[in-house]
Amino acid sequence: MSIHSRPKKSLGQNFLHDTNVIQKIIRSFDAQPTENVLEIGPGRGALTSMLMEQLPHLTAVELDNELAASLQMTYGDRLTLLHQDILSVDLRAIAAERGKKLRIIGNIPYNITSPILFHVIDTRDAVQDFMVMMQTEVAARLVAKPRTKDYGILSIFAQYYAAPRLLFGVSRNSFFPIPAVTSAVVSMNFTTPADPTAENDVLFRTIVRGTFGKRRKTMRNGLKSLNVPPEVLDTLSVNLDWRPEELTVADFVLLSNQLLPIAGIITPLVSDDEHA
Ligand code: SAM
Repeated sequence: MSIHSRPKKSLGQNFLHDTNVIQKIIRSFDAQPTENVLEIGPGRGALTSMLMEQLPHLTAVELDNELAASLQMTYGDRLTLLHQDILSVDLRAIAAERGKKLRIIGNIPYNITSPILFHVIDTRDAVQDFMVMMQTEVAARLVAKPRTKDYGILSIFAQYYAAPRLLFGVSRNSFFPIPAVTSAVVSMNFTTPADPTAENDVLFRTIVRGTFGKRRKTMRNGLKSLNVPPEVLDTLSVNLDWRPEELTVADFVLLSNQLLPIAGIITPLVSDDEHA
């Protein structure tokens, strides 16, 4: 790519230039020619150029005017370039159009990592897997286990809806301009169904967000503030003296299923669009 305009901080532009890292990402992703691949934020095309060596067609979403135009010019018809915000892209429509679930890859703008994750999670029926570069701290939260400082809402949702794997770390020096934080590549797979499964997805999310919203509270107090009546509290199988970070993903799923009969009276404390 020949575009060398000033990187825009507002768009989270830190371009990968380390060939070894680029090759490692592409090798781990292992795109096959018949697959329906979507790249988020191709930028100057560090990953794009290698993906184009493996694929007859690629869909990419890039918000930057100049970079979008340049990519389109370079790759012509082989690249469907959506010049828009990834958060407004209808992933289901792209999967339907090409008759295949999406494989998503990207070195994404870090300031919208959580919204992107939730956008993908919310359309997971159209997504096979997702492999992205993110800030190391966020990657650590995605794969965190109970009773650790990183374990929270993001860990539970990521581990419930997908199977996040921390693949490798990436040094700050692999980017231009050099970012303030270190990075890591994470992959998530949406093809294995959760076990156990929450019977009411909204209720499950409400319980997780509602109890973790008051992280230092015990489950008893967290559930009380969600309007769970005392007589129902007594019937639940979780230890009510525990704090939310002591419960596993499965504990939260079972809890939300036990609360199904009173779903109608549970009051969300936090709106569902507040991202983790
Ligand atoms: N993939 C390139 C690389 O690895 O060098 C660029 C990565 S850079 C961290 C993130 C890219 O996402 C930039 O090209 C930026 O313009 C683009 N971007 C920022 N916000 C976006 C959004 N909301 N939707 C789509 N692309 C966006």
